[in-house]
Amino acid sequence: MTERVDTRIAIIGSGFGGLGMAIRLLERGIDDFVVLERAREIGGTWRDNSYPGCACDVESHLYSFSFALNPDWSRSFSSQPEILDYLRACAERFGVTPHVRLGCDVRALRWEDDAQRWRIESSAGVTTASVVVVATGPLSDPIVPELPGIARFEGKTFHSAQWDHAYDLAGKRVAVLGTGASAVQFVPEIQKVVAKLDVYQRTPPWILPRPDRDHSAEERRRFRRHPLLQRLHRARLYLQHELFVFPFRRPKLMERGQRMALRHLKRAVADPALRAKLTPRYTMGCKRILLSNDYLPALARANVEVITAGVREVRERSIVDGEGVEREVDAIIYATGFRPTDPPLAATTVGRDGRTLIEAWEGSPKAYMGTTVAGFPNLFMLLGPNTGLGHSSVVYMIEAQIEHVLKVLRLMERRGLAAVEPRAEAQRAFVSRVDSRMRGTVWTAGGCASWYLDGTGRNSTLWPDFTWRFHRRVSRLRARDYAGRRAGERG
Ligand code: NAP
Repeated sequence: MTERVDTRIAIIGSGFGGLGMAIRLLERGIDDFVVLERAREIGGTWRDNSYPGCACDVESHLYSFSFALNPDWSRSFSSQPEILDYLRACAERFGVTPHVRLGCDVRALRWEDDAQRWRIESSAGVTTASVVVVATGPLSDPIVPELPGIARFEGKTFHSAQWDHAYDLAGKRVAVLGTGASAVQFVPEIQKVVAKLDVYQRTPPWILPRPDRDHSAEERRRFRRHPLLQRLHRARLYLQHELFVFPFRRPKLMERGQRMALRHLKRAVADPALRAKLTPRYTMGCKRILLSNDYLPALARANVEVITAGVREVRERSIVDGEGVEREVDAIIYATGFRPTDPPLAATTVGRDGRTLIEAWEGSPKAYMGTTVAGFPNLFMLLGPNTGLGHSSVVYMIEAQIEHVLKVLRLMERRGLAAVEPRAEAQRAFVSRVDSRMRGTVWTAGGCASWYLDGTGRNSTLWPDFTWRFHRRVSRLRARDYAGRRAGERG
């Protein structure tokens, strides 16, 4: 069945970004909006990633909405079910739920310049909206590499973000491909139950101890009674994380962290040959720094083998590595990450001049304030280009961007504008400042190939500076950076 819904604002996605946007709209008295969600439940990345051991590696008292502090976080780094519960509770508490359309997979967006609105094609039909907020997140589309011979494989395969809970791993021979943030969380969990675990590592990650602990009933009670104490705790965490910007910007300062990580590795792994395999050869921080107390010890267990020779071929019931060694496996789990720099929706988002976002970006995503794009009127992207973080909570970035969106919406109301977009020169100036701040940071000079870099080699994913600087720039609107048109005015 197709339905046609005309709305002022369409928000795509119901994770932290989509829900946060919806909540702030409601707080501003704007209720003419819908939240389009492709899944059957809200929650974004915290719904999709349900693999064993999934948790956030930023403290929950920081990784949460500033307008919805939760005194009841059970531990420092909460697990996925607790974060998903928090998002569900926020949707209910702030009245977002009636605005959510579940099972609505957005496939294409087209700007209709005559009508000055977006035409949104989805699995549930066509929606038109004056404004679109894309809150699909950079980590929503899993990548599964094409392994040679994989079509012949008769065992089970799935990606970490699409975990098959119906498949019982107990007693199975399992191969895990990838050793990033997801793998380090689920490998120690499945190691305990599988018969044999082959971990295919391409690049070893830098791993630091995870300072996780339970929050006592007394602590929670204190935060409940004295919200100011919780605010102070959050502020302390925020400042601690901001200090990491110094070593990211001056890679030499990473040496101390590297020494700590090497000590952590030595404590966990006695075998020098395995330790050598697990020792990174690039500067810490160039790829995401991982926090784990149980991953390295798990790799040292007798039922685990770390394979660094790559995959030459997959056969019906086995994998042959790059050195020709064949190992029988019942299941292959891809922990191979996502597509942040060429999201599928960008290929089907058509702007004012008929070009898609992918075409406009020419291989390297760029946006004014990481949020709006010249030639794409009334389109806002939460966690758009250069708004990701290697050191702190992206919820902070999302909230800063939401304030920007609200200010642009107010500008439209005040000036009676039907369409606004950033001026190309303002966008260029913003991107050029970001690029110049990026120079010399560990993400570009750290000697690794990471998913932070796009196909052109440019870092189009991360914000290269203190997050308060982003907040300050983005939440102050410079109206002259935007070009606006009234209803019926041609571009
Ligand atoms: P990821 O960090 O991109 O790691 C992917 C892993 O797969 C890497 O080890 C990569 O090796 C390997 N890989 C990719 N393609 C491969 C191929 N064709 N053959 C062999 N190996 C291959 O993905 P992720 O672990 O899912 O994490 C993605 C992001 O999600 C993280 O960086 C983080 O931002 C977020 N995350 C956050 C948390 C949290 O606690 N907050 C938890 C999980 C994930 P190379 O390193 O050599 O490329």
